[in-house]
Amino acid sequence: MENQIKQSLERIQLPPGAEARLQERIDAALDRPMREKRVILKPKKKLWRPALAFAAVLALFLLGFYSLKQLRGAETAPIDPVKQPDEIVLQEPEDELPKSLSYPLELNKGENAARYPFLVHTPSATWYLSAEDIAAQGKGAFFRGLEQLLQVQEADFAEARAVLAPYLQEEIPPIDIYTDFCGHAEESATFGAYYNANRREIRVFQNWDTAAYALLHEYVHYLSFSCTEHPIKEGFFAEGVAEYVSCFACENWMKRAAFSSVSAEELDFARRMGIWDGETNSVDLARWYLYMAEKSRDPSILGVKYTAVSGALITRTEKINENPSFGNVSYYELGAMFAYLVDSYGEDAVLGNWDRELTDLPELYGKDFSGLYWDWLDWNRDQRESLGIVID
Ligand SMILES: [Zn+2]
Repeated sequence: MENQIKQSLERIQLPPGAEARLQERIDAALDRPMREKRVILKPKKKLWRPALAFAAVLALFLLGFYSLKQLRGAETAPIDPVKQPDEIVLQEPEDELPKSLSYPLELNKGENAARYPFLVHTPSATWYLSAEDIAAQGKGAFFRGLEQLLQVQEADFAEARAVLAPYLQEEIPPIDIYTDFCGHAEESATFGAYYNANRREIRVFQNWDTAAYALLHEYVHYLSFSCTEHPIKEGFFAEGVAEYVSCFACENWMKRAAFSSVSAEELDFARRMGIWDGETNSVDLARWYLYMAEKSRDPSILGVKYTAVSGALITRTEKINENPSFGNVSYYELGAMFAYLVDSYGEDAVLGNWDRELTDLPELYGKDFSGLYWDWLDWNRDQRESLGIVID
């Protein structure tokens, strides 16, 4: 696997210092003991589990419930994160196919060629490019968006595999990724992308920015559900691990790029809040999550709609702030909670137990969800303040 990671690194250009940091991470992951060293020694309960409807469609990710652009207006306007199909910007078609992509464009000769006439193979993924999406965006815009993603996708996927190496099988097959910007999948109404564990495929919805925002999260679902002898079983660990790995443990250049078109005013805002990474000229995702997780509880957010980790589109209320549960917290809160768990109990106590369940939390960490939530909130405030991140 090491060679595979190194090879994929050679194909892309990362910001200064990033490659060295990634190499350190890969070396550390390869040196780490394998998964047998579980922190919790108690034998695992064997529970019967009905065919896990959960695994059928692991939906799950949505754009943050407010973006950097929207944040500044969050006090006054409830934000609906779901873009309707008629909001997709149509561009004039351009006849030219791209002359140079990071990976060559191939003609699809499979059964689904009419719908997906073009393929792109990277070492870690096979992209199926929808004819309808290309027509809707225009060839030029579509392939420019694809190329922006391809320039960093391999590095991001390699880093996620390196972080999770102790918990994964040796061989990781390439993942199939389908574009569905025109919203044919039912899930596109609620989510930015999803991973289907039965079909072992990722679908990305809406546009390239949304794809870039959500893709690494979905790839972590693929790794932790389908590329391990100990697959994740339920939502708490599924979403927590996906958020933690994609936004705290990895640099996630794809997601950073989704924030790249901020205005000067927004950039000034991000700098003042302490969430801007001047070195790479992009949002620092870990800082962003520490900020957003706490901001999720802010009085200014009461009444705002968001997709909870449970998948439901709900409205933030005081009652939720008083009684947070797995069913009603935001992705930001759960991701930051997992950063807290890793910081407090160690990465192996969290990632090494990802096949456990929500009801196992007292056994694993001494407290139930609610108890851990309040401990996390204290930790989050300390972290945020020590990093100079300001809640406006
Ligand atoms: Zn998810």
